[in-house]
Amino acid sequence: MTRLVLLGPPGAGKGTQAALLAARLQVPAISTGDIFRANVAGRTELGLTVERYLDAGEYVPDSVTNAMVRDRLAQPDAADGFILDGYPRTTEQVRELDGMLAEAGAQLEHVLEITADTDELVRRLVARGRAQGRSDDTEDVIRNRQRVYAEQTAPLVQVYAERGLLRSVDGLGEVAEVTARLVAALEHVVDLREVQLPRTAQDAVSG
Ligand code: ADP
Repeated sequence: MTRLVLLGPPGAGKGTQAALLAARLQVPAISTGDIFRANVAGRTELGLTVERYLDAGEYVPDSVTNAMVRDRLAQPDAADGFILDGYPRTTEQVRELDGMLAEAGAQLEHVLEITADTDELVRRLVARGRAQGRSDDTEDVIRNRQRVYAEQTAPLVQVYAERGLLRSVDGLGEVAEVTARLVAALEHVVDLREVQLPRTAQDAVSG
């Protein structure tokens, strides 16, 4: 059972790592950015609503994003765990996610932050824009996305750190290296739990 959130600025490699971790952990990777882009490409009602936000590098309004994620997490494949890539991104979304999970009697287990410095991020996104033609990978929009991340999403690092859920991992290096760091960070959490288990059991026995 893995309920995991991946945090990190645009270009940190969340999408790539989410897919690799999902295959390894046997849970779906859920990317709000991918879902929005698929809806834009498919000219759905949701796509028409969100297109201008994506193109400007602004966040889609919380009400729209939260409803979309609520639907997706209610799908059967997410019942036993998931990796969220790109959600939550605002403190309001954190509250919503807490509520959705509480209603299902579940809670978040891990938050992994992938870090990288701004110059590297911009460089990667400009390269991706050339290779894939993503409409929000132009230099102006990239800078706006970085700004929006710093203002609205970076504070979530502190929120999850205070809950003891956060592990930060360096996003520089080969893809496989970063994956190994993420897996090691997850195992570290598991190890800590194993250390604590016998003590808890003993406490229970000794009353
Ligand atoms: P990146 O992290 O590379 O910027 P994503 O694919 O995660 O890209 O997201 C692309 C765009 O989709 C964002 O710039 C934003 O417009 C929208 N989006 C994705 N997730 C959210 C979210 N949780 N809240 C609001 N908008 C979102």
